[in-house]
Amino acid sequence: MTRPTALHPVPDDAEARRAIPPVICYPTETLPDPDLQTRTTRRAHMHKIDEVIIPPRTAGCFEVPAGGVFRIASIEGPQVGDLNLWNRHDLSERFYSGKTRALHGTHVTTGHRLWSSFPNLRPMATILSDTLDWYGIDAHGGSVHDVIGTRCDPYTHRLLSGETYHYCCHSNLTRALAGFTGLSRAEAEPLVHDVMNVFMCTGFTRDTGQYFMKASPVRPGDHIEFFAEIDLLGALSACPGGDCSATHSSDAAACHPLLVEVFAGAPGHWEHAPRNGYDRSHGPVSRDQAAGNAA
Ligand SMILES: [Zn+2]
Repeated sequence: MTRPTALHPVPDDAEARRAIPPVICYPTETLPDPDLQTRTTRRAHMHKIDEVIIPPRTAGCFEVPAGGVFRIASIEGPQVGDLNLWNRHDLSERFYSGKTRALHGTHVTTGHRLWSSFPNLRPMATILSDTLDWYGIDAHGGSVHDVIGTRCDPYTHRLLSGETYHYCCHSNLTRALAGFTGLSRAEAEPLVHDVMNVFMCTGFTRDTGQYFMKASPVRPGDHIEFFAEIDLLGALSACPGGDCSATHSSDAAACHPLLVEVFAGAPGHWEHAPRNGYDRSHGPVSRDQAAGNAA
């Protein structure tokens, strides 16, 4: 089943209602300027402090100090990566793909930021460079680096196929986080969250609105760099879908490793991005409730 057939009559003014022009939900003109110039200048003074190679169908963790940079690179062949980010000192603060999508759109590139969960809602990372920025939006409505695709996982796979597969990104990220932190897998799993799909080419079909994927345009040598706005713990899964041209949640696709490199050491302290300024009081009770008349 794709989109169910409508059961209700079309009103006389249906076309007029459909013709109303859209309004952008979150105009971004008032977002704090990411100041790429300052970050790029700082980047020029960094050196590599760590690297992690993520073998196919596994995930690995890495730490990035605030004011540092991490780079995800394709090294042997087209490969998609599923990225999770946490505040290194508080794993309850994590990447919020839904709000990042609402602010920046379905796919992210240079100058966009990865925002953290409530009540923090602050930039965790700023995309500093992206060798696939030339791709834009293709004729199918597809683009690269999506913040829509959640992550491949064994539950949806079981739901759709009845089968068990242990090397979906969700499980890879769970194993990696547990191994890195010493948490049990049961403790680590709820900390795994909706990802940024690095290098993945996706969109929504115009006719049914369904999520689609197509072969990633990434090639060895391509990379994307993120400037860390706070101390970060990252985890990256080399998706079992490989370039995500056909299948995922199985061992069928050709898969390649991904390289994560961490850079730091620029002179001078980098101030953490401030947490969101909302006071969290959520307003006074309604007048009815205050008067004791609540139903
Ligand atoms: Zn995956």
